[in-house]
Amino acid sequence: MEIQKNQSGQTKCVDMEDLEFINRLAKTPLTAEEVYTFSVRLCDNEVDRDWERFDETALSSLGDLLMGKSGIFDHQWSAEGQTARIYRTEVVREAAQVTAAGDGYCYLKGWAYLLRSEKNRDLIAEIEGGIKKEVSIGCSVARSACSICGAESGTCSHVRGERYGGKLCFAELREPTDAYEWSFVAVPAQRNAGVLKRFGQENGELAQLKKQAELGKKYLKQLRREVVRLAMLADDGLDGETFAKAAERLEEPELLALQQAYGASVNKRFPAAPQLRNFAAAEQGDETAFLV
Ligand SMILES: [Zn+2]
Repeated sequence: MEIQKNQSGQTKCVDMEDLEFINRLAKTPLTAEEVYTFSVRLCDNEVDRDWERFDETALSSLGDLLMGKSGIFDHQWSAEGQTARIYRTEVVREAAQVTAAGDGYCYLKGWAYLLRSEKNRDLIAEIEGGIKKEVSIGCSVARSACSICGAESGTCSHVRGERYGGKLCFAELREPTDAYEWSFVAVPAQRNAGVLKRFGQENGELAQLKKQAELGKKYLKQLRREVVRLAMLADDGLDGETFAKAAERLEEPELLALQQAYGASVNKRFPAAPQLRNFAAAEQGDETAFLV
């Protein structure tokens, strides 16, 4: 992380424009005295140690995706839940600097804010003191293209890190689809300050899996609730609480079997139920559902 202090070295006062950006995100309007802002280098277009890099357009999209996202601080801070929130991003070009790919260097600069609360006092002091940290971002991209032939990475014969006719082979990460985290990582003393990125298909897949797991949990919860409801309707003697607890331990196949069994006996007990079911079928376009 690059802490960019203002020239005088004094605590930067938040200007109105920044405050406007911040208040677009804040739940309740904040005043300039209530927020502390700083800027960080989020990621750049330099080829990294995995022979990968973002193209400039991807940096700009990442900026949009990271807007409003909260970043966490490492070690002692994360335990207390201190976070900073990105309220503005911009791709900054440093024309004089050339990347390993041979074009102009640019990076994604992010402005973040945190509240000047008692809880954040020491953290702000640490940031003010110029701690050297890197920013790690987690994101997924739709495309990873070979810099030599443009083919999807791994599908051609070019080897990353090799040169072909003087051109370096690397994977260019394009079209970010999601940026789900950014965090501060302490930099080991010997390492050059830079940007540590976490990205790629694996992370994207992992995020996808997490999302699916969440959906799966939600689905199972609904299914359990439905089975308990049907069971209560089907059997008056059933202790609902005990049954709900038992259902917690059941997985999808058992739950589906129970849903069917209890559903059948509910239909038997309450003659209106089959008609309701037919009505549903009619709604789905099956006009013969009402025919006896
Ligand atoms: Zn290639």
